[in-house]
This record gives sequence, structure tokens and C-alpha cells, in this order.
Amino acid sequence: MGSLNIENVKKAFGPVEVLKGINLEVTDGEFVVFVGPSGCGKSTLLRVIAGLEDSTSGRVVIDGQDVSATPPAKRGIAMVFQTYALYPHLTVKNNMGLGLKQANTPAAEIDRRIGIASSMLSLEPYLERRPAELSGGQRQRVAIGRAVVREPKLFLFDEPLSNLDAALRVNTRLEIAQLHRRLKATMIYVTHDQVEAMTLADKIVVLNAGRIEQIGGPMELYNSPANEFVAGFIGSPK
Ligand code: ADP
Ligand code: MG
Repeated sequence: MGSLNIENVKKAFGPVEVLKGINLEVTDGEFVVFVGPSGCGKSTLLRVIAGLEDSTSGRVVIDGQDVSATPPAKRGIAMVFQTYALYPHLTVKNNMGLGLKQANTPAAEIDRRIGIASSMLSLEPYLERRPAELSGGQRQRVAIGRAVVREPKLFLFDEPLSNLDAALRVNTRLEIAQLHRRLKATMIYVTHDQVEAMTLADKIVVLNAGRIEQIGGPMELYNSPANEFVAGFIGSPK
């Protein structure tokens, strides 16, 4: 399970409204990509979904339950950041298992889940290393593995490939697509890369200045952009 409903979500920082009434339905197992220019509110929307930021008004509903007042750790969500956010002093294994340990998951269960995730992400040879001993691509796989072991209903990715070079970006994108097929989990993925959006998404959400310009499948947006803005981002040149 992992359906999500965002109902008229608004978010202001002081006098500045950065989300101006977002409405979105995500069905269980869907891969949804948010695209839009820098500063349009993509990260803020992810943070509101995760509970890292309170909305000013509106509701976030997961599997039919209003989670607007539910703390982040209880929402069944795991988030992967552009900067990996790993603990430098912990091994790969302990980075992956820390959240589960803090939630009092039995050690045998933590090991079982790390075994599965590290196999899926080809991280087995690196489990005893520290982040400084890994490449950028390996670090991002650890960050993804840390999300996987939590068995979330909903994965949130905030520009996870932006710090990687072109070749690694392709590999890691394919791994994320494969993960989606294997886990059948709901994934929401922020990018400003058109290729990532077109290849990963079941559904693309085009954001602009705190509003949704258009929602649709990749080919739908490509062939029938609602306006010049969407065409500029996704559509074929006019
Ligand atoms: P994106 O991820 O699409 O680049 P963000 O969601 O990070 O955009 O930011 C949207 C807008 O909100 C930007 O103008 C940004 O400066 C502003 N903003 C984001 N976080 C804060 C904050 N904690 N305090 C004040 N303004 C913020
Ligand atoms: Mg952002």
C-alpha cells in the first residue's frame, strides 16, 4: 500500500507563498516525477509530504489517513537526498541500519534487510567501508539502500542523480527503475532532467512557481503540452 493524496496544500515562508494550492493523486505503486525550474517548490512539496515541513494549509493523505499531524518517522516514507546525507563515521552497514536500530528493530531482522538491499544495489563488497572510501555513485546507492531497508510505502527522491557524472547517472537511473519494478513501491522523484522524467515516470507533474501546470503521462505531455511552459520543459519543440 502507498497511495497519496495531496489536497490543496499551501506553504508560505513568512510572506512568501511557495506552494499555492497543490492537488495531486498518486496511486499505489505509481512512479511520479516532479519537474520544474529551480525555486518552483519541488523540494518544499517533498518535504511537506515527508513531514519535514508543515504545510500552511491543506492535507496530506497516505492510504486514506490524514498524516498532516503525523511525525516523519511514522509516515511510512523514506527520502533520498541529492547530497546522500550519510554519517561519515559509520560503516555502510551501520549507515543503512541506523534508522532500524533507532526504531528498535531486532538485530537479526536488520541484518536480513541489509542483506536483501545490499544485494539489490550491489553493495555487498562495501558493507564494512566508510563513506569516504566510496565513489559518489556508491554513496548514493548506500543512501538508496538506507531507504530500502526501512520498507517504506512511499519513496521520495530529491534530485538523487544531480551530483553524479553522466555515465553514473544513467546507471543509477536504471537501478532506481529496477528497484521500482522489484519493490512495486510508490515513488516520487524530483528532477530537472527531461530524460530522467521521460524514462522513469508513469506520470509527470510539471510545477511552476508553486502551482501545477500539467499532469500527465510522458507521451501525453510530450505530444500535447498544455502551454508554452510545459512545452519548454517536456514537449516537442513548436
Ligand atoms: P526547488 O526544489 O523547486 O528548487 P524549493 O522548494 O527548494 O525549490 O524552494 C522554493 C522556494 O521556497 C524558493 O524560493 C526558496 O528560496 C524558498 N524556500 C525554501 N525553503 C525555505 C525556507 N526554509 N525558508 C525560506 N524560504 C525557503
Ligand atoms: Mg530542490
